[in-house]
Amino acid sequence: LAVIVLKNVCKYYKMGEEIVKALDDVTLEIEKGSFTSIMGPSGSGKSTLMNIIGCLDVPTSGTYILDGMDTSKMDDDQLSMIRNRKIGFVFQYYNLLPKLTAIENVELPLIYAGVPKSKRLKAARELLESMGMGSRLYHYPSQLSGGQQQRVAIARALVVNPEIILADEPTGNLDSRSGEEVMKILSMINEKEKKTIVLITHDMKIANYARNLIKISDGKIVGQEETYEKYV
Ligand code: ADP
Ligand code: ADP
Repeated sequence: LAVIVLKNVCKYYKMGEEIVKALDDVTLEIEKGSFTSIMGPSGSGKSTLMNIIGCLDVPTSGTYILDGMDTSKMDDDQLSMIRNRKIGFVFQYYNLLPKLTAIENVELPLIYAGVPKSKRLKAARELLESMGMGSRLYHYPSQLSGGQQQRVAIARALVVNPEIILADEPTGNLDSRSGEEVMKILSMINEKEKKTIVLITHDMKIANYARNLIKISDGKIVGQEETYEKYV
């Protein structure tokens, strides 16, 4: 069952006289519960694709169907609703709030969702503990290593139980050991929690943690294959 379906998606940017084809006729399907890397060099269209998959932007032409819903006919309010319900984002620079502790950062999306305090704390604590962060619940981001901050950010993305985790260069700011730890956590989330994970990276070693690899170049899909290395 495909949870992400793009059909003939194009995204054009107008730069004065010139038209930049950031995505040029992209057709792809991503299965529910799969772990997919989207890999390509800088400028190949990865962020544009991520923004469309994450309902942060819409195609110039073509259709994007997310979990059976055609997003091309949605207005901004509908897009933001579907985004908040279906997708958890993980970024290169963590985007944690510096004045909140680890557990408060993870709790935050549940405050917006109207979940009562005791339930929020329990969910945030359990997630952080499952990521080996049980002894860091009350640390502020500045007191955590990069890898630890990214684990907090992953817990925050997961706490609202989204269908899909979209991770944009999640290890881009980490040394290789911390990067491996973060990738192992994403693998665990895929295997144990059955979350669909879409990872954007330019790093082949990181891309290989996924089971499926989509290669993009100049806005076009140029390869799609299974990876064989297994780390978990
Ligand atoms: P990547 O994430 O792989 O580096 P991007 O999706 O950011 O690639 O960019 C793809 C292409 O689209 C590049 O040529 C980039 O310069 C262009 N592009 C991206 N965003 C914009 C924008 N807002 N306006 C104009 N051109 C853009
Ligand atoms: P790594 O070895 O992954 O690079 P660091 O050297 O940054 O990690 O941190 C090692 C340990 O020290 C981590 O467990 C982290 O929580 C703790 N730590 C780092 N900076 C601070 C700080 N400013 N205050 C309290 N604890 C810190």
